Amino acid sequence: MTAPVIELCDVSRRYDDGPPALHDVSLTVRAGEAVAVLGPSGSGKSTLLNLIAGLDRPDTGTVTVDGVRVDGLGEAGAARYRRAKIGMVFQFFNLLDDLTVADNVVLPAQLAGMGRGGAARRAAELLDVLGIGRYADAYPGRLSGGERQRVAVARALMNRPPLLLADEPTGALDTASGEDVGRLLADLNADGQTVVVVTHDLALARSCTTRTIRLVDGGITDATAGAGATESAR
Ligand code: ADP
Ligand code: MG
Repeated sequence: MTAPVIELCDVSRRYDDGPPALHDVSLTVRAGEAVAVLGPSGSGKSTLLNLIAGLDRPDTGTVTVDGVRVDGLGEAGAARYRRAKIGMVFQFFNLLDDLTVADNVVLPAQLAGMGRGGAARRAAELLDVLGIGRYADAYPGRLSGGERQRVAVARALMNRPPLLLADEPTGALDTASGEDVGRLLADLNADGQTVVVVTHDLALARSCTTRTIRLVDGGITDATAGAGATESAR
């Protein structure tokens, strides 16, 4: 068995007086896994991802990612942690529209203090690998949704994060572009990238993950382990 990349231990999180958004969730994700987090709207999927990304803190429980205790980090520590350990992809891409594609992709490396030349070379290489090298000097507004999501994936991979997180990455895409992103995530995982994808999209979960977790009302109700389970769901 490979080393754990994510370890959540009895994690709970509630907002204000509402019911718990997450309740006593424990979860281990190992290096090289690709895990889909499924569940209805409001079931706590984004809350789970945000806790792993250090964008939010649990009320109780511990979150450890690649050896870092994330639940105890302050703002600055969490920002450093994210730059070093996490690549994140969102439903609506979150690209900066007044920067070129290449400058969007380079940004995380600049924030991490990587040299300009090396960062530019890596960005160009990533854009080529993802099939969007010809758009390096274009602005994101000129690209299709599927192309923008590829740029977002390139940006997420810039600092070679041990963990790639995606929150509904196909939610704003047409079916063909969504399948394209699914194949991209599957390819990255085949090359060893550990991935956690939150999605409503069962087809995406099947196409790009080795394991599925289902959240209902803030708790894990069902977990299907191993690639075999994915096979039998096809
Ligand atoms: P999902 O991503 O599965 O749709 P979320 O994790 O976004 O679910 O939300 C889980 C629950 O927590 C929902 O009931 C939602 O209304 C609530 N919630 C999420 N974020 C906040 C917030 N910032 N403030 C208050 N309630 C929130
Ligand atoms: Mg959500």
